[in-house]
Parts: sequence; structure tokens; C-alpha cells
Amino acid sequence: MTTSLRIALIPGDGIGKEVLPPATAVLDAVGRRHGLTFGYDEFDWSCERYAHTGAMMPDDGLDRIRQHDAILLGAVGWPGVPDHVSLWGLLIPIRREFSQYVNLRPITVFDGVRSPLSAARPGDTEGGVDLVIVRENSEGEYSEMGGRFGRGTDGEFAVQEAVFTRRGVGRIADFAFDLASRRRNRLVSATKSNGIVHTMPFWDEVVTERAAAFAGVQWRSEHIDALAAKLVLDPSSFDVVLASNLFGDVLSDLAAAVAGSIGIAPSGNLDPTGTHPSMFEPVHGSAPDIAGRGIANPLGAIWSAGLLLEHLGYPEAGAEVLAAIRSALLEVRTGDLGGTAGTDEMTAAVLKRIDA
Ligand code: ATP
Ligand code: MG
Repeated sequence: MTTSLRIALIPGDGIGKEVLPPATAVLDAVGRRHGLTFGYDEFDWSCERYAHTGAMMPDDGLDRIRQHDAILLGAVGWPGVPDHVSLWGLLIPIRREFSQYVNLRPITVFDGVRSPLSAARPGDTEGGVDLVIVRENSEGEYSEMGGRFGRGTDGEFAVQEAVFTRRGVGRIADFAFDLASRRRNRLVSATKSNGIVHTMPFWDEVVTERAAAFAGVQWRSEHIDALAAKLVLDPSSFDVVLASNLFGDVLSDLAAAVAGSIGIAPSGNLDPTGTHPSMFEPVHGSAPDIAGRGIANPLGAIWSAGLLLEHLGYPEAGAEVLAAIRSALLEVRTGDLGGTAGTDEMTAAVLKRIDA
């Protein structure tokens, strides 16, 4: 029996357009082994489109991708187009409309990839780092509430409200604990209840309540400052890290840097209920400095496709993608990893291992 899945492709700008074809090639190859066929609909939503039409996507854009099983995005952003245009013109509308309240960032240090830590602590970190950051993606510190007051006076001040809801914290905690229970049963929740005296104690309280349903998971709260230090000093001690919107944003870039290259890091914006399509994208941006040269590392996009498979209920297929990446990296490396291979060569190395 074959299952057919419809994927909305948004290549975007710069190397986004170069790394999506490798990702779909890998989906097709791994799909053949698992009775899955993929149908792709491509959308040119991008800063390039914005430059021509004044909009990142058409007015009915969200409706055009609502029925798809998932969304695969390359990267959006281009010099001269302010970040808030791609953010508010595309990424945030998609996240909000489709209730993608989980941002998922798996981080692994692969053998053969030099982490910035390996120079300081040779042999200590490679192979051992395998963690997932679960970032709350819909509320918290990133809110539009607040304002500037007394403009131009000596007493001028700015206020920014963070909003945490029982529903919002509860559902992200449930997701993170469930994930930990399917991994190594360990979880650390980022807090700062010693300095942020209303929202963070509330976060801790709701997380503690939800933890009760996952008795098998060993967990603790840790202040964000100490946690950040430990992620650098001892990254292999972590399994699942649960964090609010702001803390998760910072920690995921920190952890991706620890892993060695932004070119490998994948991410998922998930609606875990499956009501709406989830969106998968490499962590890197459009990389204008290397765009158009065929040298972008496609692994971040390929691994994102692996997360897509896992999310849609094909964990073995997702694991095959990751295993192929792991094995390919032993032999072939792109420029960002100190190697000389181009996008095509790296892609071929992954495909060869999937077809083997
Ligand atoms: P954005 O604002 O869209 O996040 P950015 O400029 O902050 O973009 P990137 O576009 O990710 O960040 O680029 C950061 C650096 O990493 C650049 O030098 C870029 O060439 C490099 N880089 C990013 N992604 C890759 C990749 N897939 N392969 C190789 N190098 C990459
Ligand atoms: Mg940037």
C-alpha cells in the first residue's frame, strides 16, 4: 500500500532555493522504501517576491497551504529587506494561523564535525551530544503588549509585557515531557524565578504540575544563566531542554553553535495536534554571501525533511535520514565544515546511503 503526502514547498531566497531540491530528493528516496509518495506544490513566497509585488505572499496564501500535510521552507531574508518584513509577512502568520506552538531544535555533534568545543576539550564532546530544545513558540516574552511613554522627556520609559497562560505553558510542557519519555527520560526546564518574579514562578508551577503525569522522566528546573553555561561546558549531559520563547531562542542558537555548523541544524514548527500543517526549515538563513555558487550545505534542510517524516508518523524513515547524514559526514564535508564538497556532492553522499 502506498500513502501519498502533499508537501507545500517554500524555497524562499538565496540558498533556500539550493537546499530544498536536496531535501525533496531525500524524501523521495526514503519514501520509496516506506511506501510513501510525495506530491509537491511550490510557492515563490520570498523577499524577491516582496521586491516585485510589495508582499511576501498573496492575500490568500495561508488558505493555499492549509490542506497540505506539511510545509518545507528553505530560508527567507535578503539584504535591503528588513527582517521584520519576512518575519511578519510570512513566518509569523504561518506559525499563528496553524497553531505551531512548538519550536523543535534537535542538536547533535556528529563524528567528523569539529565543534568549537573540541579544540578546547579534544575528544570530549564529539559523538556524545544529542539533545533537543523544545521552545515555546506562541506566547511569553515575545508579545506586542507594552509601549513607550513620555517620549523625549527625561522620564521616558519603555514597558514590555510577557504573557504566559496556563494553557500555553501546559501544552508545551506536555509535549516536552512526552518527547523525553520517548528519548532518554531526562528533562531540564529553563527558568529565572529568582529575578523574574511573576511569570517564571508561574512557568515553574505549571511545568511541575504537568510533570506529575510523566513519572518516568527525571527532571529539574535550572536558571537560564547557569543552564547556558552548562550547555557549553557539558552539552552531552542534556536530553530534552524545555524553554520559553525568549530563552529557547537564545539557547537554540547557542546549542547549534556548540554543534559545529549552522549548516546542519534543522528545526520544526509544530502543531502537535495535527490539525494544521507543521513547518520544517533549516536553522540557517539565506546566506547571501554564498548564494548561487552551489556550495551551501544541504544537511540542515535534509535533516528538516527527516523531522517532517517523524512528525507525520514515520519515525523509522526519519531515523534513516539521520543515519544517512551521520554516515555521509564521515566521508564528505562542505566548506562550512572545513571540506571542499559542494551541495550536489553532499546530497549524493546522503542519497547513496539511503538507497544502499
Ligand atoms: P538570517 O538573517 O536569514 O538568519 P544570517 O545572515 O543571520 O541570515 P545565515 O544566512 O544563516 O545567517 O548565514 C550566516 C553565515 O553562515 C554566513 O556566512 C553563511 O554563508 C553561513 N551559512 C549559513 N548557512 C549555510 C549553509 N547551509 N552552508 C554553508 N554555509 C552556511
Ligand atoms: Mg540574521
